[in-house]
Amino acid sequence: MIKKIVKTTAITGLMMMGLSMTGLASNTLAQDRFANVKIKTTQVVPGIYMLEGAGGNIGLSTGDDGAFIIDDQFAPLSDKIMKAINEVSKNDLSFLLNTHWHGDHAGGNENFANKGATIVAHDNVRKRLKEGRSGENAIDPAPKGALPVITFSDTISFHWNGHDISIFHPDPAHTDGDSIVKFDDVNVIHMGDVYFKGSYPFIDLSSGGDLDGFIKATAQALAITDANTKIIPGHGALAGQSDLQETYFMLLEVRTIIANEIAAGTTEEEILAKAPLKKISEKWGKGFIKDDFMTRTAYRSLTAKK
Ligand SMILES: [Zn+2]
Repeated sequence: MIKKIVKTTAITGLMMMGLSMTGLASNTLAQDRFANVKIKTTQVVPGIYMLEGAGGNIGLSTGDDGAFIIDDQFAPLSDKIMKAINEVSKNDLSFLLNTHWHGDHAGGNENFANKGATIVAHDNVRKRLKEGRSGENAIDPAPKGALPVITFSDTISFHWNGHDISIFHPDPAHTDGDSIVKFDDVNVIHMGDVYFKGSYPFIDLSSGGDLDGFIKATAQALAITDANTKIIPGHGALAGQSDLQETYFMLLEVRTIIANEIAAGTTEEEILAKAPLKKISEKWGKGFIKDDFMTRTAYRSLTAKK
């Protein structure tokens, strides 16, 4: 499926998006890009924080056992992020969980491992980081120090800082290595990029992502929420159950619209020309994923299964 897609010219935009979101941040330009980024720390509940800078939202648990972070943004931001962690954590950094392999979430891995973090992730995160990606928008294999040292296939639990932390891997959704994290005792969830608050999501088909899997994972996350759950999305502001429900219904609507076009025999380019998502783009198309990109992703994901 991926090979077939790569041959089409329309893939360029898709791949560029994937490239920018996987964030190859190692040159001077990248340094400049991050020079003015400030890390904003928001307390979600006592002892749990959301850190925003550039890239995916970071979750942080502090306490007697040591700091536990979820995702780490881009490598050039690691020192700033560590400073922000130390402002609220009295203890050393212990664990880093990668919700998936993209560079805007896992780019700082080696730096944080050097600061003492044990990196944990789904099996496919390690595999993709280790192998990198060849082809037009190649990504170099990550150095050994950036790789997760503990991996899991379905679920893993932590009992840390007084919390019971349950982590599960949904079927392929944003990528094929996603994790969703719940602090059971305090009703806080970090969804990684299985949740973009208030906008269309990025579904990385080239990393094994899947629209139906994304919808299913959203439903699974909803099933472990209630009206008081605080949800840290991969991108966007802190959210609640009703926000996630809205996104779920949007995803179903997008799926229905594109699936109906496919059933009617409409080609990808014909669907694009009809702009069928225009009626919902005012609300959902203002993020970095626009109507056309969402349309192509949905079309390709749904047709890849046939
Ligand atoms: Zn991502």
